[in-house]
Amino acid sequence: MLIDTYGRVATDLRVSLTDRCNLRCTYCMPEEGLQWLAKPDLLTDDEIVRLIDIAVTSLGIEEVRFTGGEPLLRPGLAGIVERVAALEPRPQMSLTTNGIGLRRTAAALKEAGLDRVNVSLDTLRPDVFKTLTRRDRHKDVLDGLYAAREAGLTPVKVNSVLMPGLNDDEAPDLLAWAVEHDYELRFIEQMPLDAQHGWKRDGMITAGDILTSLRTRFELTPEGEEARGSAPAERWLVDGGPHRVGVIASVTRPFCAACDRTRLTADGQVRTCLFATEETDLRAALRSDAGDEEIARLWKRAMWGKKAGAGLDDPTFVQPDRPMSAIGG
Ligand code: SAM
Ligand code: SF4
Repeated sequence: MLIDTYGRVATDLRVSLTDRCNLRCTYCMPEEGLQWLAKPDLLTDDEIVRLIDIAVTSLGIEEVRFTGGEPLLRPGLAGIVERVAALEPRPQMSLTTNGIGLRRTAAALKEAGLDRVNVSLDTLRPDVFKTLTRRDRHKDVLDGLYAAREAGLTPVKVNSVLMPGLNDDEAPDLLAWAVEHDYELRFIEQMPLDAQHGWKRDGMITAGDILTSLRTRFELTPEGEEARGSAPAERWLVDGGPHRVGVIASVTRPFCAACDRTRLTADGQVRTCLFATEETDLRAALRSDAGDEEIARLWKRAMWGKKAGAGLDDPTFVQPDRPMSAIGG
């Protein structure tokens, strides 16, 4: 098991497949100038599958989520999914994506064994999308979402980040749209993980702001702690249900005490938290012919050092050097 000194057990593995992306969301990446990881430093498909195999068969991982950067840019994605689906025990598999390219790939990914997708979409307005992501691809995301639902990658979840002065008036519209199309909407508080280090606690839209805005149009009933489990999102039934809305309040209502995650970057570093300042180099172990037991031991030792919390609301908080796109969101 991947257990830490606070008794938390990691069963959920986030795997970043690339740090590259075809969008430039303002809260994630600068317009230009971000240094990409060098190709030889990236784990190969075989190395990724081997690490996931160790995690699933020796370390108790039950769920694998592929992310990035933009994971659909990884040429070998469907092959990786297929090989992970063949592992015993077979983990649940999901993908966090900006949705561009899903129209072409959703059916093949489902066929390969992918269970679900989370698609990021912050706005229903194409012009605001272009400002937020610096690319004119709004329709591609909507098409991708539709294709995911048609392919049965359900429940399709939509992640939205609200930015002051850009889309912070859109929470009720996004929820009405998500209910209409049967997508499960989750708002994510903006976190200090942008490559430009431009995050400001004072300016961010909080979970409280989001709920106040949603309640102008919807009746929200809390689902309660039991239904939440170790999920980062607090959820509410919308107008009595069955649709739900979630809020991931990493800054104002952190859920670190129930965290069940471990993370693997595209260059083979284990991180115990998005906000960790330390990493454990599994790529070096892989490439020096370490056996599965030795790799499992390194992973367990990393987990044992997991901190109690990220401390985002603490004035002494220091943003990690790696941006979200290079950690895997
Ligand atoms: N490119 C894919 C996507 O956008 O879904 C996967 C990677 S992205 C880093 C994963 C999630 O992190 C997205 O939902 C994105 O909106 C969110 N994200 C990125 N930067 C963030 C930030 N600074 N604060 C909060 N969420 C952020
Ligand atoms: Fe790309 Fe996702 Fe970051 Fe947007 S949030 S720039 S889509 S990695």
